[in-house]
Amino acid sequence: MGNHTESIGIAGAGLLGRLLAWQLLLRGHRVSLFDAGTREGIDSAAWTAAGMVAPLSEAVVSERPIYDMGLFALTQWPLWINQLESERTLWHQQGSLVVSHPQDEAELAQFHRELQYIIGSADGYQWLDRPALQNLEPDLSDRFQRGLLLETEGFLNNRELLNQLLATIERLGGECHFECPVDVEPNTLYNAERRYRFDRVIDCRGVGAKPQQPAVRGVRGEVLHVRTRELALHRPVRLMHPRYQLYIVPKPDHRFVIGATQIESEDRSPMSLQSSLELSSALYTLSPAFAEARIVEQSVNLRPTYLDNNPHIQTSDGLIRVNGLFRHGYLLAPAVVKQVLADVEGAEGTPFAPFLQRPLPEMSSAPEHPFRHSP
Ligand SMILES: Cc1cc2nc3c(=O)[nH]c(=O)nc-3n(C[C@H](O)[C@H](O)[C@H](O)COP(=O)(O)OP(=O)(O)OC[C@H]3O[C@@H](n4cnc5c(N)ncnc54)[C@H](O)[C@@H]3O)c2cc1C
Repeated sequence: MGNHTESIGIAGAGLLGRLLAWQLLLRGHRVSLFDAGTREGIDSAAWTAAGMVAPLSEAVVSERPIYDMGLFALTQWPLWINQLESERTLWHQQGSLVVSHPQDEAELAQFHRELQYIIGSADGYQWLDRPALQNLEPDLSDRFQRGLLLETEGFLNNRELLNQLLATIERLGGECHFECPVDVEPNTLYNAERRYRFDRVIDCRGVGAKPQQPAVRGVRGEVLHVRTRELALHRPVRLMHPRYQLYIVPKPDHRFVIGATQIESEDRSPMSLQSSLELSSALYTLSPAFAEARIVEQSVNLRPTYLDNNPHIQTSDGLIRVNGLFRHGYLLAPAVVKQVLADVEGAEGTPFAPFLQRPLPEMSSAPEHPFRHSP
C-alpha cells in the first residue's frame, strides 16, 4: 500500500463490514464501524448463515465467476483464520458430501452432470460407494447407495468468527457504534442525531441499504438448529430431492444447522410450519438418530440480492457501495474484500474486478442464469 492512510466510516457490521474494518485497520487506516443492531450481529444475514464455503455446490446454480471467486476463498480463508489467532477452530476443510435417496437418484446424477459441464473436469470431486460413504460418515443412514465427495469444500464456525473479528477490530483501535443505524452519502454517515465526516465511507448494510438503494432486494432464508449427542458428522451433507435441497452443517457443541429455504419474500417473521416440517423430515431421513435431537433455534433472515443475483462494487468519490452477496457471502467475501481494499488504496485491481465492478443490472434486463435450487 502507499503511505496515505484515511479515516473510513463503515455502515453495517455484518460479514463485509467486519472483514473490511479489520483489514483496513491492519493497513493503518482509522476505522469507525456503525451497525443498527447489536455487537453479536444477530440481525445480520452473516449470523443466520450456515457458513459454508462451497464453490462446487454453488457452481451449478451460479455464473462461472462465482465459482472462480469461491476457489480463491478456499485459499484465503485459512490465511485469514491463522491471522485471527482464535482459540476455537474457525475453519474446517474436509470436503462436503452430496447424497440422494435411491428413489431420487436422478437428482444426484443431474447434479453430477451439471458439475462436469460447468467445471469441465473431475478435479475436486469423486464418487463414493456405500462402504466408502459409511467409512467417511458412519452415522449417516446406510440407505444411501452412493454419494459425491466434493473434496476441497470447507465451512466456517461463522458466529465465533463474527465475534473474533469484532474483538480484533476493537483491539486494533477501531471505533464501534452499535444500535446506531445510519444513512450514507459521500464522505458522510448520518442519522437524526448526528453527522459523521470521513475521508471515505463504505456502505455494507446488506438489505438495510434498500431504502437508499432500491435495487437491493431481500431473499428470505430459514434455518433450523438442532442439538444431539447421538451422532456426529465431520463435514456438510447435502441431500438432493425433487422438491427441495437440504444441507446440514455440523457446528460446535453438538449443534447442527439445517437449511435453508429460499423464498422471494422480504418477510422476516418466524419460520413457517411447512418449512419447519420439510427441513426436519428431510433431516430425519439423513439419519434416524436425529429423531431425539432437540430443536434449539429457528432463524430467519434476508439474503442481500441484486436483480442478477451477483455481487456488485460501486466506487465513486468518497463512497464505496458493496452489496448483493446473496447466498454466497462467505464464499465471495475474500474476493470482494480484496477488491474493495484495492479500490481504497488505488492499487491494481484483482482478477475479479471486471465482474465485480460491472454496472448494476437494469430492471428491464433478465438475469442470465436464474437460480433453480433452494439450499
Ligand atoms: C439462511 C441463510 C443461509 C446462508 N448460508 C450461507 C452459506 O452457507 N455460505 C455463504 O457463503 N453464504 C450464506 N448466506 C449468505 C450470507 O449470509 C450473506 O451473503 C452475507 O451475510 C452478506 O454479507 P453483508 O455483510 O453484505 O450483509 P449482512 O451480513 O446482512 O450485514 C449487514 C449489516 O448491516 C447492518 N445494517 C442494516 N441497516 C443498517 C443501517 N441503516 N445502519 C447501520 N447498519 C445497518 C445489519 O444490522 C447487519 O449487521 C446465507 C444467508 C442466509 C440468510
